Amino acid sequence: MKLFIKTVLACFLLAYFAGTVIADTPVRIFYGGKELACSSKAVYDGKQIFVPLSCLEELGIAYEQSANANLAVTSASGRCGEVPLTQLPNEKMIALDRVLEIIGGELVWDESKSNAIIYAHLQSVEFVDDTIKINCSLPVRCTTRKWQNKLIVDIRDTKLASEAREVYVGGPIVDRLRLGQYDPSTARVVADLLQDANLALESRVPAAQLVFLVGKDLPKSGTQDNLTQSQSSAQPAQAQSCKIEVITLESKNADGFDLIIQTSSKPQVVHSYGVKPPEVEVFLKNTLLPDEVTQLDANHPLIKSAKLTKTTASSQPAVKFNLAFERIVAYEILSMSNGIRLRVRIPDKAGGTLRGKTVVIDPGHGGREKGACWGDLYEKDLNLRIANAVKVALEREGARVIMTRETDVALSLAARAQIALERRADLFVSIHCNSNSSPGSASGIETYYHMDEPSPKALAYAIHEAIC
Ligand SMILES: [Zn+2]
Repeated sequence: MKLFIKTVLACFLLAYFAGTVIADTPVRIFYGGKELACSSKAVYDGKQIFVPLSCLEELGIAYEQSANANLAVTSASGRCGEVPLTQLPNEKMIALDRVLEIIGGELVWDESKSNAIIYAHLQSVEFVDDTIKINCSLPVRCTTRKWQNKLIVDIRDTKLASEAREVYVGGPIVDRLRLGQYDPSTARVVADLLQDANLALESRVPAAQLVFLVGKDLPKSGTQDNLTQSQSSAQPAQAQSCKIEVITLESKNADGFDLIIQTSSKPQVVHSYGVKPPEVEVFLKNTLLPDEVTQLDANHPLIKSAKLTKTTASSQPAVKFNLAFERIVAYEILSMSNGIRLRVRIPDKAGGTLRGKTVVIDPGHGGREKGACWGDLYEKDLNLRIANAVKVALEREGARVIMTRETDVALSLAARAQIALERRADLFVSIHCNSNSSPGSASGIETYYHMDEPSPKALAYAIHEAIC
């Protein structure tokens, strides 16, 4: 009991001293080479730096006061959490290091100057449809350059987060994306090229997500700041903007439709797909939308809503189509010399239920082919155990399940495919486990599908989203 009282007293004294220090130590906070305007009110209590909420706005961090007197903060990349609000003599403030702990980032404190410098975190890189996406915790600026067979992006005032991983792309243009800390305040992304290519920044900087298009006929990367680069490239490219002429919905039947977008020249297309909720986004770069075209014909039972938006990319006009669907669909984009055809269909074999469907489950490897190993643990055994569990789950839903192997035997890839063909399978799913040399560093799943076929892509997305 005595010890408890001492502890309480010690805490009380600490709190008292903390209060005194807060009043006495103003702090200057810097981010991106500039002092944050809000930092005139920031204070240091000997342990933490407290800032007014306006600092969060300057850093592009969204916040909302929750019922329990906490502040819910959300970064541009979607990381969120709650931090207690602290009542200081003049206003409510928030501990900046707690915020950065949640959304990612670092605060470097220089006690002798009463200065603090904020660093963003480079959290992940992605490569999708010839586009490099660099995700950071705070809005950042960058410079780009080309050196030998490498494209280099340097991100200023940024540190590499411990969770950031390099990405293996495997061609045809980019081999892999590597990451590093170039100097204490600059994170670096290097794209190793398999063929000649350039980078074009698509996002306006500063941005928490830097988006670069990689390709052969793009404006050359320079060493200058990308803000100036994208402005200077805007003028010549604008002259050759492609223009939308007519949008029509054709070949309508119960199974789907074709959305035809006719343009004055061949448009540059980027598209993405989601199944939760089911939607397709099509982005036409460097494309003009005339004022008379205001909405999409959404008159089809598969379409829940359709949206047409004028936007910009790299200071050029662009047009975005968002189609939300009543159910998961299979889609493909067929490129034409004067536009695109977005073909949307109910996926093959889709019937709303698994009853009566023939599903071939293929546990990867087997026999002398062990797959990935960790000590005595072999991938082939894990695959078989997972496949057996999947079989039970599918049979419970009324599916007819055929296994390519039920014991520890080796089987060629051709033999596995042959089983699916002979049994006229509706679905074929192969199960594997990946390995990684550093325990605890990887999580999640990878789902592969036949890239030329829209229906397997829809199935792959549905499985992937359901598991993750
Ligand atoms: Zn495997």
